[in-house]
Formats: sequence, C-alpha cells, structure tokens
Amino acid sequence: MKTIHDFPRVPLCAGPTPLQFLPNLSRKYGKGIYIKRDDMTGVGLGGNKVRKLEFLLADAKAKGADVVFTTGGAQSNHAMLTAACCGKLGMKTVLFLKERGVTEEKGNLLLDRLLGAEVRFVDTDDYETVYAEMDRLAEELRARGRVPYAIPLGGSTALGALGYVAAMEEAYRQGTELGVRFDHTVCVCGSGGTAAGVALGTYLCSPATKVTAVAVDDAPFGEIVEDLMAGALALLERSGEAAPLPEIRYHVGAGYGIPGPEVTAAVEELARLEGIFLDPVYTGKAFAETLSLLREGDFEGENLLFLHSGGAGGLFAVDLPAK
Ligand SMILES: *Cc1c(COP(=O)(O)O)cnc(C)c1O
Repeated sequence: MKTIHDFPRVPLCAGPTPLQFLPNLSRKYGKGIYIKRDDMTGVGLGGNKVRKLEFLLADAKAKGADVVFTTGGAQSNHAMLTAACCGKLGMKTVLFLKERGVTEEKGNLLLDRLLGAEVRFVDTDDYETVYAEMDRLAEELRARGRVPYAIPLGGSTALGALGYVAAMEEAYRQGTELGVRFDHTVCVCGSGGTAAGVALGTYLCSPATKVTAVAVDDAPFGEIVEDLMAGALALLERSGEAAPLPEIRYHVGAGYGIPGPEVTAAVEELARLEGIFLDPVYTGKAFAETLSLLREGDFEGENLLFLHSGGAGGLFAVDLPAK
C-alpha cells in the first residue's frame, strides 16, 4: 500500500490553508459550522485546482513536458490556475476553452491574459471536439520537438483526485487540533475529482464523517465519482476496498454557470455574517444547498465542515441575479 506522500508532488499550495469556525452562522443555525479555506491556496486567486495540480504537474515535469494543455468553460477557474501554476514552473500553457458563457475579457479570461496563457476558443458544446483539437495540436508540437502534456477537464483524473485526499488529511488533522470531530463534510462537484478525493480522504482519515457533494452540472456524477475513486484507490494500491461513495445532491438550477436568486442570497449571507466571499458558479450553489440542509433540519449531527473551493474570478464575470 502507498500513501499520498509516496507520490511526486510539486509544492504549489501555500502550506495548510486555514480551517475556520464560523461563529455567527453557527449561532444562527444552532450547529458547529466550519469552513476549509481552499480559496486561499496561495496561487492566482486561490482555489481547489492548485491541490490537484501539485500531483498533475509533478507528472508533467517527470515526463519532460514544456507545454501544458487544458480545457474548461470560458470562465474556467481550473484553466486560469493551470496557467498560473505552469508559469511558476516555467511551462507554457495553451487553454482550449469552450466558447460558451461569459467570453468577454473579464473575470478569469482577464487573468488568463495577464498570465500570458494562449487561449484558443472552441465553438462547441461537447468536450470530445475539444479533446480532438488538443490531439491535433499535440501532434503538431511533437513533430517540432516540443513535449505537450494534456490535463482533462477540471484536472479530474485519479492522480488529480489525490490532491483532495491530501487536503482532507490536512483538514481532519486541523479538526483534531481544534478538538472537533466533523459529522458531515460538504463539497462541490463540478467534474468529480474533488468529490472523489474528499470521499476517499474522509474514508482514510475520518471514516465516521458523512460526505455530501453538491453537483452544479448535469452529469452522471454517481458513476464518474465512483470511477475516479476506484482509480485513486488503485494508485494507492488499495484496489477493491469499499470506500463509501459520497451522497450527490444536484443543485444545477437553470444550468451550469447560471446562478439563481438563492445563490445570491447564500453568497450574501456568508459575506455579511462572516466576511467570506463565495463564487456564483460553484461554491455559491453548494452553500445554498448547505443552507437548505440546515434550515430543513436535514443535517444530522453537531459539526459541519464546508469546503470552500475558490472561484473568486467568477464573481467579476458572472452576474448574480436579484433576490
Ligand atoms: C472546479 C471547481 C470546483 C469543482 O471541482 P471538481 O473537482 O471539478 O468537481 C468547485 N469549486 C470551484 C471554485 C472550482 O473551480
């Protein structure tokens, strides 16, 4: 068996991120509510992708890559953070972004430009077309002696998911230091890697904790997360172990990247009570779902941990509707 510490990793995350008690929210709902500040991972504007990139870019380096490809929506946090991390490591980035959503040069697209990433828009609704474009450019670059390395959507591979096994090991250790045992951990599910890593890290470090992943897109996340967990277990040489799957709750609303008024209300509630900003595409939806769990009394147990996975760039690009 291996542990996450047996894998090559480039140190990108700025040490342990804070794990904070939320006193005003806790008082309001009569529970112990905590937040893991992975919006403070210390690269770009912070966010969960830095955790995955520690493992993925170590692999890219080991393979001698000099240019990294990845993809996402026009306002992809993952694409922006890939560009930021690759820049630090001296690798060029080509971002294949779906020409959908907010394509003006604001939010993450502005940051992509400041970071010097090459942005190629692909006018398509499916990622197969994007991956075909990537393959074409990879061939072209290889013929010229370059070494491209492609990271799929959200960095959600088994190797990337190990980033969240590491993050949860850190979070539960911080909980122990504070003398808190979490009954329930809530995270966002956008491409599945974070949810898979959170569920696996919880199984390994805090098996009595229930995990809920709030899906912000319509995809069969039950299967996607199960496959990623199986892959990550295989990497850890623990194939076949029965790590419990997270509960998946869908909170998509009108569609991926489109927040409803309840998202505005959730973003405002955390900002006003605790001075912490969520984003409109991911954490705002997950937090809206968490608030309804708390309001409807569906949250069993005493202590809840909410994973803040970042996304600040989206606040400056995606409009929050009036409540
Ligand atoms: C990508 C992202 C997520 C979702 O993580 P996945 O591993 O893709 O499921 C959640 N929050 C933010 C801010 C993100 O950028």
